Amino acid sequence: GLAVERVSKSFGDLDVLRDLELIVEPGEFAAVIGPSGSGKSTLFNLVSGLDRPTSGRVLVEGEPAGVASGKVAYMPQKDLLFPWRTVLDNTALGLEAQGVRKKEARARADALFADFGLDGFQQAYPSQLSGGMRQRAALLRTVVLERPVLLLDEPFGALDSLTRTEMQLWLAGMWQRHRWTVVLVTHDIRESVLLADTVHVLSPRPATVVDRVEVPLPRPRGADDFTAPQFAA
Ligand code: ATP
Ligand code: MG
Repeated sequence: GLAVERVSKSFGDLDVLRDLELIVEPGEFAAVIGPSGSGKSTLFNLVSGLDRPTSGRVLVEGEPAGVASGKVAYMPQKDLLFPWRTVLDNTALGLEAQGVRKKEARARADALFADFGLDGFQQAYPSQLSGGMRQRAALLRTVVLERPVLLLDEPFGALDSLTRTEMQLWLAGMWQRHRWTVVLVTHDIRESVLLADTVHVLSPRPATVVDRVEVPLPRPRGADDFTAPQFAA
């Protein structure tokens, strides 16, 4: 789970977050929506331990965010793939960095390529992919880490609506299986209601949570409601 306790963050004179409170229970799927520039990516940088709050504290699985960074899989909004590495290498790198042997890391990443509509592109370079495919590769690289907390910053922004729907359902199925704690930043209110248990609405800067909505059941959550998306070759 996640506890953001009275967190403020400023960059010089710019107050981005103010007394932000956000609790996400273990296994909960939370969506965060808010205007552009309100501080959503800033919040993720604090939760992932890449940056520190000006005041307040962030706990991940009960530990300070900086200490718990190994428990967080973070897909930044602009997740750049290394252009000089193949797609398979790019998606296996995170596992290798956490000590998984190269061969196993590649096998685990490779096993997800079909689900992500990337089969056949293992040896391609990022420049040979479409924008949507690159985004799916970045998502693959993140979820393959199988960490208890998953932070996704607009993971479907570059996708056409059909692929977007397929990937949303894929994520829902994955969440159902693993019960990760997921925080999804999105501008798409329908997406937040489709996927999340709770929707947290940020105010314009300085951002604070102005509304927390529990999404009522029924939602398409039964195991039978989700099958792996089928992509055209
Ligand atoms: P979007 O929906 O457009 O992605 P956002 O909610 O993710 O927006 P942030 O990227 O968190 O917004 O930025 C919030 C504000 O903080 C912006 O005004 C941005 O310019 C500023 N900001 C973010 N990072 C820094 C930084 N490292 N130094 C200075 N200002 C920053
Ligand atoms: Mg952002």
